[in-house]
Amino acid sequence: MRRFALLLLTTGLAMFGQANHDLGYDDTPMLPGLPFHVHDPQRPHPPVVTPAAQVGGAPSDAIVLFDGKLVNGDALSQWQSAKGNWKVGDGYFEVAPGAGDLATKQKFGDVQLHIEWAAPAEIRGTSQNRGNSGIYLQGRYEIQVLDSYQNPTYADGQAGALYGQWPPLANATRKPGEWQSYDIVFEAPRFEGGKLVKPAYATVFLNGVLLHNRKELMGPTVHRALAKYTQQPAEDSLVLQDHQQPVRYRNIWIRRLSTYDQPEK
Ligand code: MG
Repeated sequence: MRRFALLLLTTGLAMFGQANHDLGYDDTPMLPGLPFHVHDPQRPHPPVVTPAAQVGGAPSDAIVLFDGKLVNGDALSQWQSAKGNWKVGDGYFEVAPGAGDLATKQKFGDVQLHIEWAAPAEIRGTSQNRGNSGIYLQGRYEIQVLDSYQNPTYADGQAGALYGQWPPLANATRKPGEWQSYDIVFEAPRFEGGKLVKPAYATVFLNGVLLHNRKELMGPTVHRALAKYTQQPAEDSLVLQDHQQPVRYRNIWIRRLSTYDQPEK
């Protein structure tokens, strides 16, 4: 009987002890360079983000840049073009050759971007003249959009290339006319006193296939030249390229990235 009581007591203590540690431990070592213990109960918790009901949809904290719906009668209310209007279709929009690049009104720094695109179903042209467009992070760093389905071109210019710098790790393109998705994480470069202190990095998935794993960019995208950093604003527009070919886009959303438990760097 006494043994049973002791068992109850020790079990109770163990449970009580365990309950105490449900939300963490403050008798653990400090994490190097951080004001937190290992399993620190005081460490801030991540914000709750509700994922979209459908795969590829915008989560609750995303800025929707295009979903086909009209805002004040305009499906492209988040965008502005340099010269003319891009063509809006049912649930998508399309490069209007000669209209100039399309830029977001909002400006961004570090982001997660989801964007879907389709090269023209009818094949016209070869190499860089076949379904060419591009996604310019901060209006400077191009993730190439190209119909790279059985379309030979230089490796650092094919779909998913960090144009002129790094070919993708794989050619995961679908056939022309089929919808494809990019999921991109972009870290903007940092400057101090006009000097680069941290380069830009890009992580890119095409149709779920990893193309770049936090790849360091050499500088803003250039053609037939070496990229080189120069001081730029911390935030700038996302830009889609008018390369004179009617590439389509749909389902575009973006999330600003920030750290919630450490100072920004
Ligand atoms: Mg391009």
